[in-house]
Amino acid sequence: MSFALHGLAVSSGIAIGRAHLVSHATLEVAHYKVRDKEVATEIERFDAAVAAVRAELEALKGEASAPGTPSEMAAFVDIHAMILADPMLAEQPRDLIRERRCNAEWALVQQMEQLAAQFDDFEDAYLRERKHDVVQVVERVLKALMGKARKMTKRGRDEDLIVVAHDLSPADTIQFKNLKIGGFVTDLGGATSHTAIVARSLAIPAVVGLHHARPLVREDDLVIVDGSRGVLIVEPDARVLEEYRLRKSELELERSKLKRLKNARSTTLDGDEVALQANIELPQDIEQVREVGADGIGLFRTEFLFMNRDELPGEDEQYEAYKAVAKAMAGRPVTIRTLDLGADKEARALAGSERQSTNPALGLRAIRYCLAEPQIFLTQLRAILRAAHYGNIRILIPMLAHVAEIEQTLAMVAQAKAQLRATRHKFDENIRIGGMIEIPAAALALGPFIKRLHFLSLGTNDLIQYTLAIDRSDEAVAHLYDPLHPAVLRLIHQTIVAGARAEIPVAVCGEMAGDPAMTRLLIGLGLRQFSMHPSLILEVKQQVVTADAEMLAMRVNRLLRFEEPDRLRELVEKLNA
Ligand code: PEP
Ligand code: MG
Repeated sequence: MSFALHGLAVSSGIAIGRAHLVSHATLEVAHYKVRDKEVATEIERFDAAVAAVRAELEALKGEASAPGTPSEMAAFVDIHAMILADPMLAEQPRDLIRERRCNAEWALVQQMEQLAAQFDDFEDAYLRERKHDVVQVVERVLKALMGKARKMTKRGRDEDLIVVAHDLSPADTIQFKNLKIGGFVTDLGGATSHTAIVARSLAIPAVVGLHHARPLVREDDLVIVDGSRGVLIVEPDARVLEEYRLRKSELELERSKLKRLKNARSTTLDGDEVALQANIELPQDIEQVREVGADGIGLFRTEFLFMNRDELPGEDEQYEAYKAVAKAMAGRPVTIRTLDLGADKEARALAGSERQSTNPALGLRAIRYCLAEPQIFLTQLRAILRAAHYGNIRILIPMLAHVAEIEQTLAMVAQAKAQLRATRHKFDENIRIGGMIEIPAAALALGPFIKRLHFLSLGTNDLIQYTLAIDRSDEAVAHLYDPLHPAVLRLIHQTIVAGARAEIPVAVCGEMAGDPAMTRLLIGLGLRQFSMHPSLILEVKQQVVTADAEMLAMRVNRLLRFEEPDRLRELVEKLNA
């Protein structure tokens, strides 16, 4: 039966493919008796399912060892293979089937519960977490038992794999970077949740906040992800499928035409230069950055280097990662943001040591965490300072609100430099340090920031979250997330104006910068530095090269006087007409 679900469009384009369900299925399975003469067949059925999953894991392991795939992927597949080989899962269900004359699914889930209970008793948080892996392995075997195992090799050549999940953390999502996935949908998540941001950086169509996709979609269902309209269509009829195939090829054609803009200068019609820089999560993203000819890296979200691993990356490992990016950018600016962990971004290596907080987005996040953990912060600062010797690196500090935080940060940078001097390491003495303006308090009292820092970068994702008091990860309040709220526009405008007056650069690196519908508005607000996912740069450039900056400034100045949302929206639409 065909049906459609509506959610939030987070990454444009169309993907058509087979659903692959990720995260836990409900493990409620039927329990029934099998007849004596059927016991042997039931055991065979169980053995065949285990063998199928073993083969599936081996195939996955082959994919995970492809060049550029993080080592965690292979380790993760190894853990699943080890769990599958555990006699409690691979052998004992056979005894249960024989002794109790029960079906294979039920026997397997009984054993899983016993095994999972053993994990609950571990003191070590990492080992306790492995319980989830046990559940995932059992899910795979259950799917195989139901004849629904994912047959990666049997997918049609032109059929993509569409990930369907209830909710995924940013750490889960980043792992998809190395797998060939055609589209991405989740039930939870706001449009600027970090999961959505990572999904967008995969440069594939994505829809979040669908509410019921995970329970309603079945493994291997044919689905269409319309990432521009925020729709998931399940088992489309032939007419809809044909229409979407056509739109997909039209979009692909438009995208390939955009490539012509790669070497065009990013200048408005009246000659203002507009820098279009890239946001990255991992050094491997540089390839995509170069493909679109970005003017530099405006935001390197370094916390992603800290996820999905058992030990934090040390100074040398971080230094190599930052240096690789600086060298690849060959003199163009590389803005390395210091660790912004906390809220929805967790590092497994720190699990257990982190405090539980009632409101994590308002808690010990980003610079607050770094100042509370000086050794972690100093290690990162030393790595950045050393890498800066090899390129045009700048440091960006997230979530600043207080003058004392800026001063403590600057003191820590001075301390990191002193340590490097003492150990005779080469580093950049004159590194520039900037601050993210993403807390309204910072935007409202900018003086001390301008006085102490070299540049500013507006983090509109958080600025909107904190100005409008809505959790950016919570799809229940996603409709209240509004970049065009007059309060938000004024905070952005006054930051850009204050920066220009003091002659210090101001960029926008939140998702607003990558939305082509916002480009003219931001130019009119005076913005000349944008940073966004590389996949969006050419679309935004198309807006820049057809914009008249002087005329936009006049129209946007008038628009700022309005407070009625409908009127504001109408005026912004007119800018784009
Ligand atoms: C922002 O808040 O706008 C931003 C760029 O940072 P992040 O999305 O990583 O919080
Ligand atoms: Mg932020």
